[in-house]
Amino acid sequence: MTAARVDRRWLSEAVRRIEADYNRSADTHLIRVDLPRYPGIVLYLKDESSHPTGSLKHRLARSLFLYALCNEWIGPETTVIESSSGSTAVSEAYFAKMLGLRFIAVVPATTAAPKLDAIRFHGGEIHMVDDPRSVYAVSHGLAAETGGHYLDQFTYAERATDWRGNNNIAESIFAQMAEEEHPCPSWIVCGAGTGGTSATIGRFLRYCRHDTKLCVADPVNSVFHRHFEDRSVTALPEGCASQIEGIGRPRVEPSFLPPVIDRMIAVEDADSIGAMRALSDRLGRRVGGSTGTNLWACAQLIEEMAAAGQTGSIVTLLCDGGERYGCTYYHDAWLDERNVAWTDAAARMTQFLG
Ligand SMILES: *Cc1c(COP(=O)(O)O)cnc(C)c1O
Repeated sequence: MTAARVDRRWLSEAVRRIEADYNRSADTHLIRVDLPRYPGIVLYLKDESSHPTGSLKHRLARSLFLYALCNEWIGPETTVIESSSGSTAVSEAYFAKMLGLRFIAVVPATTAAPKLDAIRFHGGEIHMVDDPRSVYAVSHGLAAETGGHYLDQFTYAERATDWRGNNNIAESIFAQMAEEEHPCPSWIVCGAGTGGTSATIGRFLRYCRHDTKLCVADPVNSVFHRHFEDRSVTALPEGCASQIEGIGRPRVEPSFLPPVIDRMIAVEDADSIGAMRALSDRLGRRVGGSTGTNLWACAQLIEEMAAAGQTGSIVTLLCDGGERYGCTYYHDAWLDERNVAWTDAAARMTQFLG
């Protein structure tokens, strides 16, 4: 952390550049998906792939930079560091470049190559680690070595975002739902990586006194849903890891806030991939793996609503596009090698989507 005070003119210019980027950007679309087999129930996808850096992490990166700048944690000479499985680092590299700052991403060695290319494309440097659990310690170490600042998405995601509004993802969803048949969704479904998105949505729902419930879809090999059931569980057994990038963690992250979550649904990786494939066919464009996880949970909730004779709407997130997963989730041989048997799930989801 910088000891010297940050020049206020530099700080103003840095904040202005980030605000100007926001000002030039349109809101992300809310895509309506009618389900012929479920009359009276409509599914909506908040398309976060349309941000300038291609994922919901664009929102997080903007918030983390503004938070660090306004706390005077970042100055003109600060090296910025992050531990990230990819998408956060892509978005942060974009903002670091905008501010003329050096950026280093600490990533697990398993991160998909196209994500690393995207980080480098935005001028970021890569620091690879073999053990994913060491990313935090390595990031702290790099910050100490360089006199830099560790953004620490896993700690600050929940507090860097303005949960009451400021066009956060929840406020945007409700504004875009206003003219629909069921403007107040029965459920909002999202995943958890940092837990920041679920914290923001969960708090917003309570603050605005909406009846909407929040469901978090979590990979089976993630600690979050186990912690949700039993708060004494805080880490996964050795060697347990989700294949779905961006969601599912081996330890409970500080930004994951169970009290504001109404329900969690654990999803097998193969079901996430099957749902991802089926949704991509339905939309005519590729979506990422965590969007498949979300869809699988939505299908379960929608089937329950239909069985109970309820109508209404469900909103979930299209977290990122499939471009970065061409040689993984969209590569059959890659999935076969990892014994991801996804075809039955894809057939089931194709049927669900009608
Ligand atoms: C980060 C991420 C999520 C989860 O969002 P959090 O706010 O970090 O919990 C879901 N999908 C993708 C693709 C992500 O990168």
